[in-house]
Amino acid sequence: MSNLGYQTLYRIFNSSEDISCERVFLPDDKTLKSQKNKSKIFSLETGRALSSFNIIAFSLTFENDYLNILSILKLANIPFLQKERTKSHPLLIAGGIATFLNPEPIADFFDLFFIGEAEENIEPLLEIIRMEHTQRKWVKPVLDKFAKIDSVYIPSGYKISYKSNGQINNFQAKPGYPDTVKYSAAKDLNLSPSSSTISTPFTEFSNMALLEVSRGCPRHCRFCAAGNIYQPYRLRDKKTIKNEIQELLNNTGKIGLLGSAVSDHPELIEIIEFISENNGLVSLSSLRADKICDQTVSLLKKSGHRTFTIAPEAGSQRLRDKIRKDLSLNEILNAARVLSRHKIQNIKLYFLIGLPTEESTDIDAIIDLTKQIKHAYFNEAKNEKGLNLITLSINPFIPKPFTPFQWSSYEEVKILKQKLKKISGSLKKEKKIKVTFDLPKWGYIQTLLSRGDRKVSRILLEAFNNNNNWTKSLKETDINPDFYVYRKKNFNEILPWEFIMGKEKKEKLWAEYNKAIF
Ligand code: SF4
Repeated sequence: MSNLGYQTLYRIFNSSEDISCERVFLPDDKTLKSQKNKSKIFSLETGRALSSFNIIAFSLTFENDYLNILSILKLANIPFLQKERTKSHPLLIAGGIATFLNPEPIADFFDLFFIGEAEENIEPLLEIIRMEHTQRKWVKPVLDKFAKIDSVYIPSGYKISYKSNGQINNFQAKPGYPDTVKYSAAKDLNLSPSSSTISTPFTEFSNMALLEVSRGCPRHCRFCAAGNIYQPYRLRDKKTIKNEIQELLNNTGKIGLLGSAVSDHPELIEIIEFISENNGLVSLSSLRADKICDQTVSLLKKSGHRTFTIAPEAGSQRLRDKIRKDLSLNEILNAARVLSRHKIQNIKLYFLIGLPTEESTDIDAIIDLTKQIKHAYFNEAKNEKGLNLITLSINPFIPKPFTPFQWSSYEEVKILKQKLKKISGSLKKEKKIKVTFDLPKWGYIQTLLSRGDRKVSRILLEAFNNNNNWTKSLKETDINPDFYVYRKKNFNEILPWEFIMGKEKKEKLWAEYNKAIF
């Protein structure tokens, strides 16, 4: 419910006179046991059974949610595989950033994907739905009509063959289907609202309305999928944002400003001041270290910000340069000093491990940089009162599609564990520093689901049948998951997501990859 893309679609669908859209969520076990409704999964708005809808559209942001798709279909008694469904079943659509990057691991489950931003681009799809929905027969001739729309990807319209080494040999479009499916971006974000449509206490950010200030990012860090797929970088203008803020403040006291690069909005301070002047509180989804200044921190502190995040991503300047994280040591330490002066209680530090070209000295540099940040943070203040904790959040690097590092591999789990042990052990005795991390085995699964081809759907089905027991499923499957996770790829290999990326983009990313690794 705190996903703005999901809420935007809900608004677009329901603002069309002849379309009604309702929300359905996967119930937790407790809810399932307690509910009296005969259908196990139904909509929030009217309690209608999910299987009775004409169309089911999924918004997919994280690959680790893929098993939940199968749980939802199981509860609705809908066959998982597109080829096993009949004309009496609903049309299954998916979108969201996970599918823009690579829909292939779940391609066998869906009738169609919409690869793009809905605002200005979804209308042709809705036109066909309006024409065809009464018969509720989502059969091949109708799918062929959808295939003519830009950014619609219909997996059943493509035949994939493999080489004996497991790589893709050919990704062949059937007659009438396009060879490439282009990602479509909204040209002007000011043309439609981009803020919370639904207010509910049952969500992560229940006390605030969300408002998008920009989309994409001008920085192009080489590891970042969001920065590379949401292109070009687009700003919403001050006037549009202010109008929306005024509307939102009628119903809520707090506004969360969203965007991959919120702090790069040139009028950010003016926008924050506007919220304050209108008696609202403000929250930011992120703030780059080089944008942490006295004025911004003071304004955000008044809104109740107690924790700020600094994301150096790598400990050494060498590795920060390699991944194109444009942050100097001075900028990082200066951010810590500013936060100290304003008595911000907590700092969270984000680091990645297992990055391409990483050496043991880069792991030492994470430890060293953390100590330097701690020194800057606690020494800047006259006394430590009010300063609480520095938390390190360490995540394994996932080589994501559509980034220059898409040809890299995931670091072996046992090596990642050694690196984590070294960092945790070295900082164990440091007071007021806490180390947290994601387990490397989950990064392994995320990599598999990010970079897989269609065969990976078989592993997903196996994991579902084994009650989400990934260890058992990865052992039992006849597909080698290491092939997708631990193997570096070469330029000539056909990538599972290449049909979206296109040749020109692939060449640009390859040039960036080579700049990084040599
Ligand atoms: S990591 Fe942040 S600054 Fe870098 S490209 Fe991604 S969103 Fe932009």
